[in-house]
Amino acid sequence: MRCPYCNYPKSSVLESRDSEDNQVTRRRRKCAKCKKRFTTYERVEIIDLKVVKKDGSKEEFNRQKMRKGIHIACEKRNIPEEEVERLVEDIELRLLNRKSTEVSSSDIGRMILTRLKKLDAVAYLRFASVFLEFDNVEEFRKQLQEFA
Ligand SMILES: [Zn+2]
Repeated sequence: MRCPYCNYPKSSVLESRDSEDNQVTRRRRKCAKCKKRFTTYERVEIIDLKVVKKDGSKEEFNRQKMRKGIHIACEKRNIPEEEVERLVEDIELRLLNRKSTEVSSSDIGRMILTRLKKLDAVAYLRFASVFLEFDNVEEFRKQLQEFA
């Protein structure tokens, strides 16, 4: 949860309290950087999103799996951790805001690629080669040329 004053991503919890019906947890937080205090409200949300894979099988959306894929692509590229996290959050929010409860793995891949392309060319190509599974070498070469 980012600090609303300085946008720093880390804060400590000073106090947690559940609402009477136990549906909401209120937390008093203190920003680790600017030390200002703010309150967050946490509620249960059922994430009902299934990923349809290339072979037609379905699996529950797995945030960690997506995060890991993006992190591997960004390895040793001097991309700030915050940028990578923001990318993950951005895609996740988009997925959760969809009306459909199913999304194809290739759609997710494309969403990630669109963002990686703006972020870092090498990370983009790494991700593309693994997740898009280019049908042939020619296709991959075309993508490479965009950065030449
Ligand atoms: Zn702050």
